[in-house]
Amino acid sequence: MAKTLEDFNREYLSVHTKKENLFWTTYMGVEKDGNLFAKAETEFKSYISDPKHLAEVRDAQQAEDLSPETRAALKGWLAFFDSHAIESESARTLQKELIELESAIFQKRAKLQLFYKNKDGQDTQGSTNVLSTNLAASDNENVRKTSHEALLRLEQWVLSNGFIELVKKRNQFAQALGYQNYFEYRVQKNERMTREELFSILNEFEALTRETCLKHLEHLAREKGKHSILGHNLKFAAAGDAEKQLNPYFRFEKSLEIWMRSFARLGIGYRGATLHLDLFDRPGKYENGFMHGPGPCFYDKDRWQPARINFTSNATPTQIGSGRKALLTLFHEGGHAAHFSNITKNAPCFSQEYPPTSMAYAETQSMFCDSLINDADWLKLYAKDVHGQSVPDEVIRNFLTSDHPFMAFQERSILVVPVFEDRLYSLAESEMTPAGITALARRCEKEILGVDCSPRPILAIPHLLGAESACSYQGYLLAHMAVYQTRSHFERKYGYLTDNPKIGADLATHYWNPGNSLSHRETIQSLTGATLSGRPLAEFCNLGNDALWEKAKQKIEAAARRTSSDETAHLDASIHIVHGAEEIASTTESVSRMWRNFETWIEKNYKADVTS
Ligand SMILES: [Zn+2]
Repeated sequence: MAKTLEDFNREYLSVHTKKENLFWTTYMGVEKDGNLFAKAETEFKSYISDPKHLAEVRDAQQAEDLSPETRAALKGWLAFFDSHAIESESARTLQKELIELESAIFQKRAKLQLFYKNKDGQDTQGSTNVLSTNLAASDNENVRKTSHEALLRLEQWVLSNGFIELVKKRNQFAQALGYQNYFEYRVQKNERMTREELFSILNEFEALTRETCLKHLEHLAREKGKHSILGHNLKFAAAGDAEKQLNPYFRFEKSLEIWMRSFARLGIGYRGATLHLDLFDRPGKYENGFMHGPGPCFYDKDRWQPARINFTSNATPTQIGSGRKALLTLFHEGGHAAHFSNITKNAPCFSQEYPPTSMAYAETQSMFCDSLINDADWLKLYAKDVHGQSVPDEVIRNFLTSDHPFMAFQERSILVVPVFEDRLYSLAESEMTPAGITALARRCEKEILGVDCSPRPILAIPHLLGAESACSYQGYLLAHMAVYQTRSHFERKYGYLTDNPKIGADLATHYWNPGNSLSHRETIQSLTGATLSGRPLAEFCNLGNDALWEKAKQKIEAAARRTSSDETAHLDASIHIVHGAEEIASTTESVSRMWRNFETWIEKNYKADVTS
């Protein structure tokens, strides 16, 4: 007998939830037996990649008397399995070979050590994170120079340790599926766009921001000398100094309350979801923040199944900058969680985070939310020191303007990656040599960034190697574009963003409710009435500091005239703040009780310096 929609919903949830629950406990260092997660993940992967499900869904679609809603949900499952399963035998063989090649590079890469010279001239081992922090923050030129050289050595290592074979094999794989090359294949899979559609957006943005980017490089070269725009100096020369001044106004212990109040005033709710937040660093815990959803929300026939979502950060409340970072996490991951709690379709395929849900679509939601805490009016209303004083205008001004002129360069540092990958994957195999590819990387950097060598040499970017991340980097730029397009839409429609109670509802209707049943572009079109475009982002990059501050001042003045509601900051969620297996605070009793318990726990555990 043919399967039904309910069968697919149930089967999927059983493998998904089991894997995600173990993912959380394992990554949080609570579950010590890593094999349990590995086993659940294998089970999950073999379920979603089994091509027989494609045939089963097609069978189910043949049933008579299917309602339009059921038909739409089955179409969703077809798109889901199509993103994970490969029907062509020859492509499946190539995919296996690809996985082997990729894992061989990763194993070798994990053993590779990178060295720079510390300020005393001693060889020091450093991860790529350490090297790039050195490039931005070390005031010792030799530290920066040797860090940059380490990245250039990494590029050559990549080129002589399997990357070129990987590129060739990826192209063969894409060609077996009927695409010209792997870049084209990924763009279609990730963004549901053709290569031409993608580049019409990217090229427009390139043309609009070129002058601003080059002007700022000239300015730096004039002010700080020609050597300041060399690869190892540029990030340091362009860096702003505003974080420290802001520090007293972002009190870690208040972050939870501020996040909830601000989201509630925006009209954001979680439709009864249960959220677990593990925010503090501790040994044995995974070192990167993330959000994931063990329980995707959906309507099970008529019964609403609220989402179950976890998110995490690695905060140490006593560190400088930790208060602002905590809020960024809460706004970013809380934005993801709001998205994945508000998908109101009738099957979990629409509300899970994996393809066909695109990274650009998901990041648009989180980055729109975290963009709000950089707004002058938001800062004025929410960021307060221990005496209840708001941030002085001068500090806001410095924060907004100190590295703004560098923004065009930074966005173009994302752009250079798809420009390079597109050209790399269309090279003839005979042109794929280490020297040829290195030269291509430098040419792209010169063309897009205007420098002889990027502070972050393209081939040292780890995304180029990973199966999921290769040829996907444009997603970050498309998300930035969408964020600014969304912001400018709301500014035009309502005049302001901070505490605007209509924003949550608009986002829910146009961006969140449809889940991945719409493409990223279709959601943008639905809200803004315009096609996805980099124009608003480019306009913001091109805004001079004086104009930027003028707009900011107007926002601050307008916000002072508005009155905002101060009801309970109930987000229609059951929220639990945990630290591994320990529960620190929760909304079980009341929201205000949770805030108090959170503050008390921080005071108790980080006594040293929570108030400064
Ligand atoms: Zn994110």
